[in-house]
Amino acid sequence: MGSLTTKTALVTGSSRGIGRAIAIRLAREGALVAVHYAGNEQAANEVVAAIEGDGGRAFAVRAELGAPGGVHELLLGLELGLKERTGGTDLNILVNNAGVMGGVAPEEVTPEQFDRLYAVNAKAPFFIVQRALANMPDGGRIINISSGLTRFANPQEVAYAMTKGAIDQLTLHYAKHLGPRGITVNSVGPGITNNGSPVFGIPEAVAQMSALSAFNRIGEPDDIAGAVAFLAGEDARWITGSYVDASGGTLLG
Ligand code: NDP
Repeated sequence: MGSLTTKTALVTGSSRGIGRAIAIRLAREGALVAVHYAGNEQAANEVVAAIEGDGGRAFAVRAELGAPGGVHELLLGLELGLKERTGGTDLNILVNNAGVMGGVAPEEVTPEQFDRLYAVNAKAPFFIVQRALANMPDGGRIINISSGLTRFANPQEVAYAMTKGAIDQLTLHYAKHLGPRGITVNSVGPGITNNGSPVFGIPEAVAQMSALSAFNRIGEPDDIAGAVAFLAGEDARWITGSYVDASGGTLLG
């Protein structure tokens, strides 16, 4: 029996990449998982099918984060899916994973691009936490996917990294706020992780990116999912407000 049997989880942005691996891993540990996506319904349904094929439980929820009403739509879909399957709307584990990257030189970032990055990566997680807390019983888990770029400079991603710095602040202050309820709040900071983007098919680029890690390889989504599963479990009950460096040693320099 998995360690998360009887638990429910929401993983935002779990139709692809790191979120997909987290959803599959939490389901494998026994959790009923809400697989959230923005537009890629087919990919989300495939994740649900993979989980069910593995003997797990999952359902898909659509919501465009960063758009007006997106958080409300997400929570409504989540509650509907939970109610159908459990008879209640309790959410034990929230993983704020959905995010967009920038990749724009500091001199060229437009106010619109900056606002979009903040809306999806920082504002949405804040209001998801605010809303989801009404559903979260004592002893719950909130895990925010940050980035090694909060501690490793890459000027092309300055605006993006600022949003992830905001996520780390969400972790710090909410950890204190929710301690009395036994709810832990932690950040996990991946380094470069293979999310299936075309760049990960270019051997020269992969070699360059691999060299940044102490292990001389790029991260795989499962590497991040393992850290998240640990924080979601009972063994991590004494860890809150922390930043877990899941960059494969990239921050060692
Ligand atoms: P991907 O681009 O592979 O997947 C993004 C996921 O987020 C998809 O499920 C997508 O849904 C969803 N999503 C994107 N925009 C929105 C939106 N506006 N509203 C709702 N859902 C949205 O991401 P990664 O797996 O690479 O990254 C996951 C997290 O990890 C992000 O927070 C990222 O910043 C962070 N990270 C990633 C690193 C990496 O190297 N990959 C390194 C460090 C941090 P849909 O499929 O429907 O589009």
